[in-house]
Amino acid sequence: MFHMSRNQQHRRKRQKQLCLIALLLCLAVLGFSVWLLFIPNTLNRAGESSALQNSASDSSTAAGTNAPDTPANTDAQGFLAVLEGSTAQLPAADGSWNSSDTSVAEVDSSGTVTGVQQGRCQITDGKTNYQIAVRHLEQRQEGTYADGILIVNKSYPLSADYDPGLQPITKDAFQKLSDAAAQEGLDLYIGSDYRDYAYQVKIYNNYCDLYGSEQADSFSARPGYSEHQTGLTIDCNTIDDAFGDTPEAAWLAQHCADYGFIIRFPQGKEDVTGYQYEPWHIRYVGVDIAKEIQKYDLTLEEYLGVDSVYAAPWQG
Ligand SMILES: [Zn+2]
Repeated sequence: MFHMSRNQQHRRKRQKQLCLIALLLCLAVLGFSVWLLFIPNTLNRAGESSALQNSASDSSTAAGTNAPDTPANTDAQGFLAVLEGSTAQLPAADGSWNSSDTSVAEVDSSGTVTGVQQGRCQITDGKTNYQIAVRHLEQRQEGTYADGILIVNKSYPLSADYDPGLQPITKDAFQKLSDAAAQEGLDLYIGSDYRDYAYQVKIYNNYCDLYGSEQADSFSARPGYSEHQTGLTIDCNTIDDAFGDTPEAAWLAQHCADYGFIIRFPQGKEDVTGYQYEPWHIRYVGVDIAKEIQKYDLTLEEYLGVDSVYAAPWQG
C-alpha cells in the first residue's frame, strides 16, 4: 500500500490548494470577459445620461436629455404628450379608447387624455396606437424643464442672468454633424450661436423699430424668450429663407437628429411653435429624443405637451 510521508502529504495539500486557486482565477477571468462583452454598453449609456443629469442640475449646462422615459413602444403610429394634471385631445376614434396604464394617463370616450402622473403608456382605439408621454414640469432658477428638457419659447422664458455661453455638448455635436456633411461635400457652419440677454434686447428692439412689435414677435424672440440664450441652439450658415433651398438645408433636415439636433421651427407648425419656418435654426436635445421627435414629425412643443404663447403684449 502506498504510504505518503508527511512531506509528501504536505506537498499534495499545497498542490490541491494551488489547483483551487488556479480554478478560481480562471473563473474570475471568464466572468470578467463576459462583463466586458455585455456591460460597457449599458455603463456608457448610464454614464452619458448621468453626466447630462449632473450638468443639467448644476445649471451650468442644461441639455437635459435625462428624461426618465426611454422611448419604449416602437409600434405606435401616433404620439401625444400631456402635462401632469392637464388634458390633451386625440382625434376621433374608430372604437372606444383604452389606456394601457390609467395611473399614468386616463382617456374618456371623446378621446380627451388626462395626464395623471409622469410616465409613458399607450392609448388605443383598437386600430391606432398612440404613445402617450405624461410630462412633469419643473421650475429651476434659470427656467422651466419638462422631464429634464429645458424649454424656452413664448410661454417659458429664461432668467435674464442665465449666461451659459455656447454649451460644449452643443459645440461637439455640431462639429460631428459638420464633419459628416463635409464628407458629402456640403458646407454647414455656425452662422450664429449663443446670444446673451443684453444682445437679444438690442436685436428685438431693433426689429420692433423697423416692423413694429407684433410683426417682430413672429420671427424674433423677446429678450429672455430666445432659445439662443440656452447655449443649445445654432443658426446654420446664412440666416436667410434662401438657405431652405440649398442641399445643405435638405441634408440638415434629414440628418440632424443623428447628431442630437432638431429643426426647431418646422414648416407648417407656425401655430404650434409661434415662429415662422426657420430651416437654419437647430436645437440640441440629444440623439434619442431628436430621433423620436423626427420619427413622429413633432415640434418640441408637441413632444413635451406645452404651448408657446406670450402672456401679454410687449411692454418694452
Ligand atoms: Zn435661431
